[in-house]
Amino acid sequence: MLLNKFLKASVRSGIRLQNSAAAASAAASNNTSLGFSFELSEQQKEFQQVARKFAREEIVPAAAEYDRSGEYPVPIIKKAWELGLINGHIPQEYGGMGLTIFDNCLITEELAYGCTGIQTAIEANSLGQMPVILAGNEAQKSKYLGRMMEEPLMCAYCVTEPGAGSDVASLKTRATKVGDEYVVNGQKMWITNGGKANWYFLLARSNPDPKCPTSKAFTGFIVEADTPGIIVGRKEINMGQRCSDTRGITFEDVRIPKENVLIGEGSGFKIAMGAFDNTRPPVAAGATGLAQRALDEATNYAMERKTFGKVIAEHQAVSFILAEMAMKVELARMAYQRSAWEVDQGRRNTYYASIAKAFAGDIANQVASDAVQVFGGNGFNSEYPVEKLMRDAKIYQIYEGTAQIQRMIIARELLGKYKK
Ligand SMILES: Cc1cc2nc3c(=O)[nH]c(=O)nc-3n(C[C@H](O)[C@H](O)[C@H](O)COP(=O)(O)OP(=O)(O)OC[C@H]3O[C@@H](n4cnc5c(N)ncnc54)[C@H](O)[C@@H]3O)c2cc1C
Repeated sequence: MLLNKFLKASVRSGIRLQNSAAAASAAASNNTSLGFSFELSEQQKEFQQVARKFAREEIVPAAAEYDRSGEYPVPIIKKAWELGLINGHIPQEYGGMGLTIFDNCLITEELAYGCTGIQTAIEANSLGQMPVILAGNEAQKSKYLGRMMEEPLMCAYCVTEPGAGSDVASLKTRATKVGDEYVVNGQKMWITNGGKANWYFLLARSNPDPKCPTSKAFTGFIVEADTPGIIVGRKEINMGQRCSDTRGITFEDVRIPKENVLIGEGSGFKIAMGAFDNTRPPVAAGATGLAQRALDEATNYAMERKTFGKVIAEHQAVSFILAEMAMKVELARMAYQRSAWEVDQGRRNTYYASIAKAFAGDIANQVASDAVQVFGGNGFNSEYPVEKLMRDAKIYQIYEGTAQIQRMIIARELLGKYKK
């Protein structure tokens, strides 16, 4: 827990608490938050360095084997937990470090550089925890967030269903109040950490009336993963990020105590959607980390591989591919940092979060594909690292809102600004 101690000390000595009333005033006293500074603080550089060292020494060498086996990366997750590289945003009152979204994003980018399958497994904890951080009461936060600081546990965000992904409001899982409990029936799909979670954030329809407005029809619950009636499906075999654990989960007469309702019956949709303003910046940071890795691999290769008597980096066509890749990586990084910084100021960042997520997701795919191109035939082969990057990149255009859904959000926010 060495770094954990260091990070906690760092937090005590000045890092702002996410989602606390102190954030704004602390922000004002923090030089970098007064304007858009490109200089990281000493603490932020330290976080970045520790995460970078961990990714290069522990994740990079293991990533190809986890990709091949699809095994869940337990030893790496344990080490990351011991170092304080997981759950950074859990507030200090519950044993966490209360890092800002911005600081978490710096860590996420570095971990993703090593392997985005491993980073997604780690990031799914943030997604599962965010509804509790934003909407949980004291008892819920203390019990479910506190638990995660005591041992390396995972949690999951359980919203998507076989018939409802982008269109969340059409989800069918039902929660019916019976006495002091809710009885839940339904099926969830594509749940990251589905088979590894200690508890789930669950979104279910609590008002059966089809005329009930979406904003009141759903309830958010915290559900212990070992509750009777929860049936965890097989691990899905995905195109990329193969060591991340993705599963369907069936709920059959699952009884959830009313104490585990977040805020109150009918508040779930807003909670589930609100989490994304905080979790899309890190997803964009993950995509940027992957793109940076692709750029580094491609550039190093281009400086060594020779054709027609010179290294391929000296062919203008290849150097221009690298230049385009670099432009995209730099801009994706700025986009995620802007979106994280906005939410850390206590401002609504939906517009910036969707821009960052959409842009970084797209460029991760373009840059990874370009890296394969620079590697030529070797790029197509699994002995080299870039084909994995290309497979891993695709999901960034799908999960946490597809590329199309992000554009719908950006357009809605944009047009809203122009409405007279
Ligand atoms: C590996 C993986 C991990 C995941 N992890 C989680 C998780 O932890 N928790 C969770 O709840 N979910 C998770 N998901 C689910 C993910 O968020 C959904 O897959 C995603 O939101 C898309 O939903 P869908 O698959 O139902 O596609 P659909 O909604 O059916 O969309 C299909 C296509 O149509 C497009 N489309 C849909 N509606 C529109 C529209 N109105 N306008 C334009 N285009 C549209 C989409 O962009 C997409 O291209 C995960 C998915 C995967 C694959």
